[in-house]
Amino acid sequence: MKFKPCDCETPRYQRLARKWWMRALPGTVCYRCAKCRAHMLLRAEGTRSSASQVTLVVVGVLLTGVLVAYGVDYYDQLQEQRWQRWIDGDNW
Ligand SMILES: [Zn+2]
Repeated sequence: MKFKPCDCETPRYQRLARKWWMRALPGTVCYRCAKCRAHMLLRAEGTRSSASQVTLVVVGVLLTGVLVAYGVDYYDQLQEQRWQRWIDGDNW
């Protein structure tokens, strides 16, 4: 997956359906080059989001994913501790 057009001299781009995480990047379109078969996530025509903005959004999505993963992990630990206390007899 690239974020800029491929290097083909006469690329033929086919528009693909975006995957779920690409929907988090507004104004982008997923293309595949029919010549080199490279997948690209490019700006849609007429939008003004720059590459750095796209990068920022990607970083944001990744950070959110990490935070959610940690949050779920923390919740699991809490549940585990509660369960452990229950086993240890606090609630018998
Ligand atoms: Zn190409």
